[in-house]
Amino acid sequence: MRARLGQNFLIDRNISRKIISSAEILPSETVIEIGPGKGILTEGIAKFAKNVIAVEIDRSLAENLSKKFVDNRKIRIIKNNFLEWTPDKKNKMKFVANLPYNVSTSIIEKILYLNNWEIAVFMVQKEVANRIRATAGSDDYSSLSILCQVFCKVEKLFDVPKTCFIPIPKITSTVLKFKRLDKALVNKKNQKIFFEIVRASFKHRRKILLNSLSMELGIKKDELKEKLMSVGISPNQRAENISIEEFSRLVSVV
Ligand code: SAM
Repeated sequence: MRARLGQNFLIDRNISRKIISSAEILPSETVIEIGPGKGILTEGIAKFAKNVIAVEIDRSLAENLSKKFVDNRKIRIIKNNFLEWTPDKKNKMKFVANLPYNVSTSIIEKILYLNNWEIAVFMVQKEVANRIRATAGSDDYSSLSILCQVFCKVEKLFDVPKTCFIPIPKITSTVLKFKRLDKALVNKKNQKIFFEIVRASFKHRRKILLNSLSMELGIKKDELKEKLMSVGISPNQRAENISIEEFSRLVSVV
């Protein structure tokens, strides 16, 4: 077992079934599984899908899975780091995974920028799930919340107790369902600057917007104050109180 790779294996078949059924897999669909581990989700997914592409970073786990599923023509095991692997961008797909905790946010960020999928069901650390779903005014609200919500509607399905894994992790997990929005909340052409503003605003969480943005974007305070006020945003607010809609208003002035 390699803790570094977030290897806590799910042993509860009931939870595994609930995860798979919530992905609403159709017989015509390809499902990408990230980190199949010992394969508790893989075989179940294959029963419903056209095929499963399971990407596992750990060589010995990947080799064992290749042997285990040698006769199942629907399952393809790829030994690779998902963060360095490029999925086929032409065909529609779904994602299902019990994500490795140490890289779960990087993996989510990667798939948000792919556009050939509609549903992803991911198990993540409960605290990460709270950050993903948080809205303005909450302590958990962060640039991760905004990133996810610009592209998806994210629903909490259920929590998974520690005892459902071997070895038992220190944290509780939560299963989330990401439904990709038909249209992102921010236009493609504005996304780069939008996310730069969001990151700059949250870099100094405790500072007021005027100070963090002036420091991070190199805009003089007087000038910035006027710009913020021209779009109806108080310069004295903190990032954690600014909604996605308000952040998108800033794109036109900054
Ligand atoms: N799906 C299995 C389960 O539910 O029991 C294993 C889940 S375990 C939390 C995470 C799995 O992701 C491990 O098998 C680990 O080796 C693998 N993994 C970690 N980092 C990865 C990466 N960057 N790319 C692909 N797999 C990764």
